[in-house]
Amino acid sequence: MDPHPITGQLFPSPVPPGTGWPADPADADTPVAHTEQEVRRLAKEVSGIPELDARVSVCRSCPRLVAWRESVATQGRRAAFADQPYWGRPGPSFGDPDASVLIVGLAPAANGTNRTGRMFTGDRSGDWLYAALFRAGYASQPLSWASGDGLELRDVRIVAAVRCAPPANKPTTDEKRTCGHWLDRDVELAAPGLRSMLALGSIGWDAALGAARRLGWQVPRPKPRFGHGAETLLHTPEGHAVRLLGSYHVSQQNTFTGKLTEAMLDAVIARL
Ligand code: SF4
Repeated sequence: MDPHPITGQLFPSPVPPGTGWPADPADADTPVAHTEQEVRRLAKEVSGIPELDARVSVCRSCPRLVAWRESVATQGRRAAFADQPYWGRPGPSFGDPDASVLIVGLAPAANGTNRTGRMFTGDRSGDWLYAALFRAGYASQPLSWASGDGLELRDVRIVAAVRCAPPANKPTTDEKRTCGHWLDRDVELAAPGLRSMLALGSIGWDAALGAARRLGWQVPRPKPRFGHGAETLLHTPEGHAVRLLGSYHVSQQNTFTGKLTEAMLDAVIARL
């Protein structure tokens, strides 16, 4: 049995198929950010996505979120998952490292990514998103229940405005600004081959526009408004056009109430 690096919880090694976590992107030499300035510096330094994912996965820069993600992982586990180990760390990006499409989510769910260690995995939001990506040919399977489930993405990579599960799914302005430096680097590394971005919800939309501005891209003024199906064109400093599309978030609040239907989500994804 190996202890979890953060929670100390014991879990079987090797992890049984269909359960468990992704291979840990970090190792003992991965630098750990403790402040916004360190996030900015450590993000800027990385030359590739694996290194960026590793640094994200050990970040401890937002005290409130570090405390929350780890308390859920150790004491606040949902009853249905009480016998499972929780990741309890930031969610690194997931998908094709050479993707021409980036999906920008809000933040990990406390019992989803914060449990499984993979974006949109192990919760209802993920069921919706991956089913739609499967229908569109971007995902190898429609379900995503654990990091060891064999799911692969083609030409899509999933990132988020904030990488740690926030209480009530509400990150603060400071937390969004701090984590934005990781997102900036994700977008910057993707930029040479990037065709489009899909922002899930208004927080994902604002995060994508904020990253584009900070990277010196041309962003239309006044600020493009978020809405389901909203679309705007961004231009990198090299003049490369990147389409930004908005969708209502795939949260249960929207999918259970019919605010977001499968047809609505499919229609936006088809425009990527
Ligand atoms: Fe680090 Fe982002 Fe998590 Fe804050 S939210 S601790 S910046 S990974």
